[in-house]
Amino acid sequence: MRFDVVTIFPYIFDSYFGESLFKRAQKNGIVKISIHNLRDFTSDKHRKVDDKPFGGGPGMVLKIQPIYKAVRSIKSKVKDKKSKVRTILFSTRGKKMDAKTAQRLSKYKQLILICGRYEGVDERVAKYVADEEVSIGDYVLSGGELPAMALIESVSRFLPGFLGKRESLEEIKGSYPVYTRPEVFKSGRKKLSVPKVLLSGDHRKIGEWREKK
Ligand code: SAH
Repeated sequence: MRFDVVTIFPYIFDSYFGESLFKRAQKNGIVKISIHNLRDFTSDKHRKVDDKPFGGGPGMVLKIQPIYKAVRSIKSKVKDKKSKVRTILFSTRGKKMDAKTAQRLSKYKQLILICGRYEGVDERVAKYVADEEVSIGDYVLSGGELPAMALIESVSRFLPGFLGKRESLEEIKGSYPVYTRPEVFKSGRKKLSVPKVLLSGDHRKIGEWREKK
């Protein structure tokens, strides 16, 4: 699966996607992540990506022109014209991200992700360039870069081969409390123990306990 991220801070992504599961998944060809600098799609000499809002008010707004050009350029490189591509704009007003959305998006061949900044993005991008708007929660961040990383990771976990073991996927194993050694952790007079059932070796009982939790 391909992810194309459009941002004015391309270097933000280097360290996160250069480590651990993403490092391996890119090496193994399970995901391909391309980061595009929005400024590369401007046509003026100052490489201006933002401007003042019509109607007044604080802050700056990301302009439609470079975003439109970036998305068009990314799409023009798609070889298979029938390939399933979806363009997403990060927005505080978008549909709230959840596991179901991540699974749905994992069915696409390619996602183009537009990261907003400042006061937001010219509304025509939401209306005419993006296929949908996504929010990662009811709080305001300074840009769409963290939302892009969260979306890419939650979607990638659904791709076969991304997780070391398919059984790691919460959809399959469920989500239950986990413990590891030591059996008893001592802190001053406090003794923090692991639930007995997990040490019993009785897999039916352990299964039931996890189910209950
Ligand atoms: N006043 C604006 C704030 C924009 S924050 C508003 O309330 O919408 C700047 C950019 O960060 C947004 O355009 C969006 O792309 C991104 N962003 C901030 N919080 C986000 C969230 N919770 N989910 C998704 N994107 C977010």
